[in-house]
Amino acid sequence: MDPRLLPDNPYLLLTPGPLSTSKGVKAAMFRDWCTWDEDYNALVQDIRKQLVRLAGGGEELTAVLMQGSGTFCVESVIGTAVPREGKLLVLSNGAYGARIGEIARRLDIPLHLEDFGELEPPRPEDVARILAADPAVTHVAVVHCETTTGMHNPVADIGRAVKDAGKVFIVDAMSSFGGIPMTMAGIGADFLISSANKCIEGVPGFGFVVAAREEMEKLEGRARSLSLDLYGQWKEMEDKGGKWRYTSPTHVVRAFATALAELEAEGGVALRHARYSKNHHTLVSGMNRLGFECLLAPAYRSPIITSFLCPAWPGFTFTRLYEALKKRGFVIYPGKVSVADTFRIGSIGQVFPEDMERLVEAVSMSGLAE
Ligand SMILES: *Cc1c(COP(=O)(O)O)cnc(C)c1O
Repeated sequence: MDPRLLPDNPYLLLTPGPLSTSKGVKAAMFRDWCTWDEDYNALVQDIRKQLVRLAGGGEELTAVLMQGSGTFCVESVIGTAVPREGKLLVLSNGAYGARIGEIARRLDIPLHLEDFGELEPPRPEDVARILAADPAVTHVAVVHCETTTGMHNPVADIGRAVKDAGKVFIVDAMSSFGGIPMTMAGIGADFLISSANKCIEGVPGFGFVVAAREEMEKLEGRARSLSLDLYGQWKEMEDKGGKWRYTSPTHVVRAFATALAELEAEGGVALRHARYSKNHHTLVSGMNRLGFECLLAPAYRSPIITSFLCPAWPGFTFTRLYEALKKRGFVIYPGKVSVADTFRIGSIGQVFPEDMERLVEAVSMSGLAE
């Protein structure tokens, strides 16, 4: 039997997190783990170092882990990095960009939300124009892979425009870090946010931020929240050798350490990216053969998740497809765009091109294909 599947674990998750994880990642959680002692803190320090290395950095970068799902981490960055006299520009082309705007509104942070629609990426020339027209902006935030559609935003080009204008650049790389090669320097990011349960292939429970050390050091006293004080959390980890401020998700952190080792064993981000790309291409060509069309033009797609248009043919509904596939061992994801009726299939996690071929076969057998 497939070691990823157990009687209690009968399907693969083709979703953007939680994902299907390896046996090793699951096994790491199968005992009671203590917190606060030296062994645990050393493990946290090692994870922080590995994250900095994965982001292509050395001493000029630093990393901090934060309890909660990815959104908690985004909120901690927005709520801590932008000063009282600051203003945030959000370049939005989907639900996750909109969510960053919503965080700013809730926190009373002056906001300029620029909405590019769901089907087009923000372009660097637009960013330069917007920044020239609104000089009050101090910080710019964008989502790297908009998981709403699967859009791969040109984050390095945007980063150059942001840096040319001298602004602080915040990148939500939640669904892409570890699955698409990138470095902080390469994309011009000052703060990069991701979480345990996406391309590193851990389980949900915490997120992390890689930051320019110089920018992190400026953040003392800025946070608008106690538990989501990014600086407070960082300072504690930095000064106390890997200590968290409040109860840490120890089991999830242990699983994450295993996931990082497995990423290394796979050959690092480049090879993981190659696997995800192959998953994505196998999926798209198979679904196209069955008559399904993608929402986005090929140049805009990412290997992380793919949006398909719900076909108009008789009898097709997302719910029917979902149920049929779940019975055959695959869980897919509903759509999230407002401009079209779509569904999404993820290609990240412990999922391989053969799985995508089996999935296409399952769609074909469902009676819901053309
Ligand atoms: C998953 C994800 C998040 C965080 O979502 P949570 O549900 O809070 O984990 C944020 N941004 C993007 C682009 C994501 O894919």
